[in-house]
Amino acid sequence: MNRPSVIEFPQETLRPYKQNEGGCLDCGGTLQSSMSGLCDTRFGIEGNYEVRCCVSCGLEQIFPIPNSGELQKLYEEHYNFGGEKGTFYSRMRDVFLASFWYRLWMRLDGDASFHGRKGRGRLLDIGCNEGRSMKIFARNGFKVTGLELSERAASVARASGLTVQTGDLEDYEPAALYDVAVLSNVLEHALAPKQMLQDAARVLKPGGEIWISCPNGKSWQRSLFKGAWINWHLPFHISHFSAELLDRWLGSAGCYRVTTRQISPAAWLASSLLVSAFFRRGKPTRELRSPILFPLTTIIGKLLLFPFLYLANRLGRGDCLVVVAKKV
Ligand SMILES: [Zn+2]
Repeated sequence: MNRPSVIEFPQETLRPYKQNEGGCLDCGGTLQSSMSGLCDTRFGIEGNYEVRCCVSCGLEQIFPIPNSGELQKLYEEHYNFGGEKGTFYSRMRDVFLASFWYRLWMRLDGDASFHGRKGRGRLLDIGCNEGRSMKIFARNGFKVTGLELSERAASVARASGLTVQTGDLEDYEPAALYDVAVLSNVLEHALAPKQMLQDAARVLKPGGEIWISCPNGKSWQRSLFKGAWINWHLPFHISHFSAELLDRWLGSAGCYRVTTRQISPAAWLASSLLVSAFFRRGKPTRELRSPILFPLTTIIGKLLLFPFLYLANRLGRGDCLVVVAKKV
């Protein structure tokens, strides 16, 4: 299952909180409710949320957005990097990620993390966590730097020989510009996603690429699973995007879209299925972490629903947007 890379808000990086009570998080436009009665379905966190859509710019955002202190607490409680290293699970995961079977799975299921892209040049992994993807990017030919908010995760990455800067992208001034900036399942966590895209473009050379993956706000699975759609991920996913909105934002960041692909990761489908079956309000859905039930649901879901997933992707209703854009 995909995990957010941004896992902590160190005190020094806290920004004044920009609530959307007065309107759209990005443009200040009027918000209209597009879905209500939503709550966290993973950890058992209390609270009711709505998703509201800006009538001016089309950005969907949750309401209310917790203040930055509450978010920090929630990230520390539920996403704090545990420094897991050398356990049976982490060793098996590393073996799988380096194997032929993972490359085959990416070909069959799609590549939401850009692990299959080979190339050269300098790559910045924004929200790199403990550097799991960085190792794969380096193996694929790139000269990799990570950017991470959490000192703790960054120090684990550095201990395995990786180059990691800590701090906010907004404040990051690289010594040399990059060929690639990666935003893999990060943008939807940001309190200022448009600014994040602009900053990603700022650290690129002309002709450099931004690689973005995020949940698709127009996903069919969202309509199918309603409140059980795994990508609501309240209150951590602040915003939801369409391919068209990302194109507009990329244009205003001085970039143009090269490709947009839609994929529907089977692990995301399995998560929505397990939440539909097992979620009880106020309780964590432990089945999402089951070492047997989760992979089994992923494989069976993929085998049985393959035609539906394929069709959804082709019709613009896939579960994940995978965008490559180039800086002018
Ligand atoms: Zn707006």
